[in-house]
Amino acid sequence: MDGLTGLLDRAGCLRETERLLAESQISGQTLTVIWVGLDRFREINSAFGHAQGDYVLLCVAQRLRNHLKGDGILARLAGDEFAILLPRYDLFAAQALGEALVRGLALPLSVGNLSIRPSCSIGIALMNPLEPPAKLLERADLAMLAAKNSGGQQCVVSSSEIRHPLSDRPNRLLEELNVEALLHEAIETGGLSLHFQPLVKAGSGRLDGLEALMRCQVGNKAIPPYQFIPVAEKTGLIVRLGHWCLMEAAQLVERLLYAGHEIRVAINVSRAQLIAPGFRQTLHAALACANIPPHLLELELTESLFMDMSDNVRGNLEAARAAGFSLAIDDFGTGYSCLAYLKDLPADKIKLDRAFVCGLPDDTKSLAIVRLVTQLAQDFGLKVVAEGVETPAQYECLCQAGVHTIQGFLFSRPLPEESLIKWIKEHEQE
Ligand code: C2E
Ligand code: MG
Ligand code: MG
Repeated sequence: MDGLTGLLDRAGCLRETERLLAESQISGQTLTVIWVGLDRFREINSAFGHAQGDYVLLCVAQRLRNHLKGDGILARLAGDEFAILLPRYDLFAAQALGEALVRGLALPLSVGNLSIRPSCSIGIALMNPLEPPAKLLERADLAMLAAKNSGGQQCVVSSSEIRHPLSDRPNRLLEELNVEALLHEAIETGGLSLHFQPLVKAGSGRLDGLEALMRCQVGNKAIPPYQFIPVAEKTGLIVRLGHWCLMEAAQLVERLLYAGHEIRVAINVSRAQLIAPGFRQTLHAALACANIPPHLLELELTESLFMDMSDNVRGNLEAARAAGFSLAIDDFGTGYSCLAYLKDLPADKIKLDRAFVCGLPDDTKSLAIVRLVTQLAQDFGLKVVAEGVETPAQYECLCQAGVHTIQGFLFSRPLPEESLIKWIKEHEQE
């Protein structure tokens, strides 16, 4: 790849950054770094093969050169990552160039018989005279990752708001890989299970459904959901896990029915699972295998999913509802909720996040939000569940605010099936 072999490599790029920073100390000129990462390059390689992948990289490098018009120094840092060192560029000029690059790289490119549009994520960092050269490069890299994590095909300027300290990054990646390995081990050794948390009707305290919550255990070690769920989502494993959870929950409903308890069970559904091919068939399979009616299963979806609905998402939600499943918006209030959304949502229920409950009854602002959302939801025909209720005072306050259903440690923690059956029996006798 001649067009690429002429470029500086990582070590060369660091040396040049060092030299330019030293120069800037004398000349007083600035230095800005643009870090370019191709989006989904792995997919290009897999779809077209490595030779065509190399061809795409070559064209990208050429397009970068054309945009630079002799300005700046271009380096190739890794397979699909480039850096551009821009002496004398301030942030404003670098951002204009970065945005032009995002647009320019995405012009159609013929690969095989297809025309593709290479998409890239760009991070920009302006030198800080107090930091070493490696730190400047790493800040640009982190900004590029932030651009990628926000969906790609955009520029992000490095700022103190980009949270992960650089020294954290390798640790974080290692930790995620470790959790991923443990998750695989749990899958292979039967370490996955479901616990079920009872929900009760506000006022009467009678059972009003269960939420299925996944648990992951390897030997004596339990991996908490806040660790393994994000890793499962990132790696795509969540689609298999979610499928398994749906089947298990359906079978619990069947066993409960057999024992004379008609209880609805809610399961958490991630976005990846909802948009995976075959989602609708999976729902029908769960009902058919367990031979249960659809109203006894509820799908909980996080608020962010409702705020950003593609045709596929909307279609699948509507199909689930048409099939008789009820839908709940989970963790309501934690995203950028817009109350206007509530009127058009294909949902039956909202679950107010614990954040609004934990300060009650003293936190008057939270209470005002709870009252307002409950009133509005009621007007739109939606039921309201309050999550994370731990004290009798919170419970009283939520009952008065008109919330329909209560979930929290005050009534029960999530329980394994055996303890759940005991809880149900004892609760029925109260
Ligand atoms: P979530 O769906 O909002 O589930 C409620 C979480 O609140 C559960 O945490 C539950 O144990 C906890 N909780 C309930 N009552 C109280 C309370 O009174 N006080 C406090 N402090 N916490 C309470 P858990 O089991 O750790 O699950 C965390 C999250 O992991 C869930 O939040 C859900 O988003 C995700 N998750 C769990 N299981 C699954 C699953 O099968 N699939 C997917 N996609 N996500 C899951
Ligand atoms: Mg939930
Ligand atoms: Mg929740």
